[in-house]
Amino acid sequence: MIKDKVVLITGAGSGIGKVTAHKFAAEGAKVVCADIKNAEKTADEIQKEGGTSIGISLDVSKLNSWNEAKEKIIKEFNSIDVLCNIAGISEAVDIVDLDEDDFDNLININLKGPYLGMKVILPELLKKGSGKIVNIASLAAHIGLPGLPSYSASKGGVASMTRQAAVEYAPKNIQINAVSPGIIETPILATNPPEVTKQFTDATPAGRLGKPEDIANMVLYLSSDKSDFISGEIIKVDGGWSAQ
Ligand code: NAD
Repeated sequence: MIKDKVVLITGAGSGIGKVTAHKFAAEGAKVVCADIKNAEKTADEIQKEGGTSIGISLDVSKLNSWNEAKEKIIKEFNSIDVLCNIAGISEAVDIVDLDEDDFDNLININLKGPYLGMKVILPELLKKGSGKIVNIASLAAHIGLPGLPSYSASKGGVASMTRQAAVEYAPKNIQINAVSPGIIETPILATNPPEVTKQFTDATPAGRLGKPEDIANMVLYLSSDKSDFISGEIIKVDGGWSAQ
């Protein structure tokens, strides 16, 4: 299913990416943990649990950083089978007060990051004649939420780019999908004022915040051969929020 596949996970130093990295390793994948911080830490944890993993320092907003990461992965594992673009940042600001530099920075990480990842890693998947890419969008790509102007723009862009790339590469046996989490209990929520998090939780029919595992399970499914006929989907994992 995913055993022995080489899986590159960005944002593996924390939250959803970290839990996803552990899950893939437990299923027997060779996991490349990539992040601007704590990538090595997650890889070490996986190794101690008996899994196969390396940690790589990667800034997803920089093309040269992606190229260096690819070189290291090919040297270590010879190929790449799956790319999970999970790294991201959030904000809590009104559009009028949103600083121009902050807008650019968020777009560079959340939208340009997955673009650069696909640009650099797709040639490796093409060489193999198969592969999977899973991008992380957000509920903010589907509905308007307060305090998230550039975040919503970035995640809407990720959803659209995922559909576009899926159509382009489906004939090459590469499936590209995205997951849109609802509100998931991770350190990123520290960006939100607590009353906003409460408001989001109250809006969730499941009556609880999501767990990183809820997202990792879907990322695993979309990375495995069980989803070979699924491409271009933006799958909401949100405890029923958007069904209302
Ligand atoms: P998190 O803050 O726990 O983890 C995000 C990780 O991304 C961190 O380890 C951070 O170091 C890394 N990162 C930030 N900038 C980077 C860069 N330039 N290069 C490489 N890595 C970088 O947050 P999380 O909740 O686990 O978020 C993971 C993804 O899920 C993000 O894309 C986020 O937008 C998305 N998401 C989260 C929620 C939620 O409620 N937690 C909801 C919807 C979508």
